[in-house]
Amino acid sequence: MTPELPLLRDDGVIASRLGCTVCTDGQLGFLFRADTAEVFFDCVECMSGFMVVPGGGLSAGLCINDPVWDFRPATPGENQSSGLGASMELRP
Ligand SMILES: [Zn+2]
Repeated sequence: MTPELPLLRDDGVIASRLGCTVCTDGQLGFLFRADTAEVFFDCVECMSGFMVVPGGGLSAGLCINDPVWDFRPATPGENQSSGLGASMELRP
């Protein structure tokens, strides 16, 4: 049996099953913030960012471009360690 692989967005970011609470239109993706070593999420539609809060929920929408955070796509291992790895979208 082959392991399940995460689904990537067009920008190479692993997609989640979480929806954006700001624009209610976008699917959130997993990013990794290099300056604080934290996994967070972004909305591909409205560019809002969401931090993981204690208990495994998401923060209110934040602006990730002002100031510009130092971030890159998160890896599957980082997603698992965030506590929200189960929300990774898997390839069909
Ligand atoms: Zn959005």
